Amino acid sequence: MDIFDAVADASIAQDEPWRELASCREVPPVLFFADDKDHEKLELAKSFCATCPVIDDCYNYWASLPADERKYGVWFGTTAKERRRADRARRLARAAANSA
Ligand code: SF4
Repeated sequence: MDIFDAVADASIAQDEPWRELASCREVPPVLFFADDKDHEKLELAKSFCATCPVIDDCYNYWASLPADERKYGVWFGTTAKERRRADRARRLARAAANSA
């Protein structure tokens, strides 16, 4: 899975019934799969999530994806980089708790 497959899959996810109500339903998926360094595009993508009425469905859909497909894109108001940071923080907290 690479980023091009991820964009294609995101387009396929548009068949999910809840996507009818998604704030991003008319937005080209490529905006949500901008490069990690393209903060302007990523913040614009996140602005759609900020008012999205199906953000919980979005999270549940993302959580159901295979791990390699969850690596890319803005989902439920988070960028891939933010999710990586959160994962790292959780791992460090778990390691600290286990060594205490
Ligand atoms: S939370 Fe964001 S990415 Fe998910 S459906 Fe809504 S607008 Fe789209």
